Amino acid sequence: MLLGVRGSTPAPGPDYVRYGGHTSCVGVIGTGAAVPTLLMDAGTGIRSLPGLLGSEPFRGAIMLSHLHWDHVEGLPFCRAVDRNDARVDLYVPEQDGVSARDLLARTMSPPSFPIEPEGLLGSWRFLGVPEGAASIEGFEVTAADVSHKGGRTVGYRVATATRSFAYLPDHAPSRGMTPAAWNLLEGVDLLLHDSQFVESERSLADDYGHATVEETMALAAKAGVGALVLFHHSPVRTDSQLDRILEIADSPVPVVVAKEGMRIPVDPTQLDSVRVTA
Ligand SMILES: [Zn+2]
Ligand SMILES: [Zn+2]
Repeated sequence: MLLGVRGSTPAPGPDYVRYGGHTSCVGVIGTGAAVPTLLMDAGTGIRSLPGLLGSEPFRGAIMLSHLHWDHVEGLPFCRAVDRNDARVDLYVPEQDGVSARDLLARTMSPPSFPIEPEGLLGSWRFLGVPEGAASIEGFEVTAADVSHKGGRTVGYRVATATRSFAYLPDHAPSRGMTPAAWNLLEGVDLLLHDSQFVESERSLADDYGHATVEETMALAAKAGVGALVLFHHSPVRTDSQLDRILEIADSPVPVVVAKEGMRIPVDPTQLDSVRVTA
């Protein structure tokens, strides 16, 4: 379930209503489960999580792709993860010899923020992203470093026995892909991928380490994915512009333009059932 689909900053206002203004956060709901136990990133979209959980706390794992603000700024503002009965394993791409906890504290501690990581209520563990495939909350999760800008960034492949998706919200494939990065997305049922810019904004994409819609479509086709979700929209891309975004290029792969509140089955044959519930 897509809880936040923007990059960089939230996008409030009347031009950003239908696709939503929250920054990156995706809830992963296992087969037969009612609520997410795995979250991809913790942008402001995580604030919608209590609405899914009702009176229950979140119990599960949060996989951070990287530590840029738009991927962590919702973390201390979500009641479902910040309560005494919550249980959260937070996975952080470790770097520079600094622990996961201390990396988070660089953003989340005074004077930048009122509390330190230990100020979050509930049972928290601050963990490094696992090397290779790991079993997390019943999913097989694989992380690999991907090209972006400013600090270490990883992408994820999340699989069950029968289905798989890849999550690369911030990715500049034009800077090159390692075999490990390529393996994340090759042949997945669903690819959620950076589509912050379009080719006419190529210099911005290069400056900020992001992808364009056109190159993301080409990448998805080359990787043989089942379906593509255009994700991490620019905060200035309006609803009417996003309505027309698929007109700029043809994709041989079925494409969904990410909208906040969308529930997307990890099954390319079921895309007709995609609906928005928020
Ligand atoms: Zn981002
Ligand atoms: Zn970023």
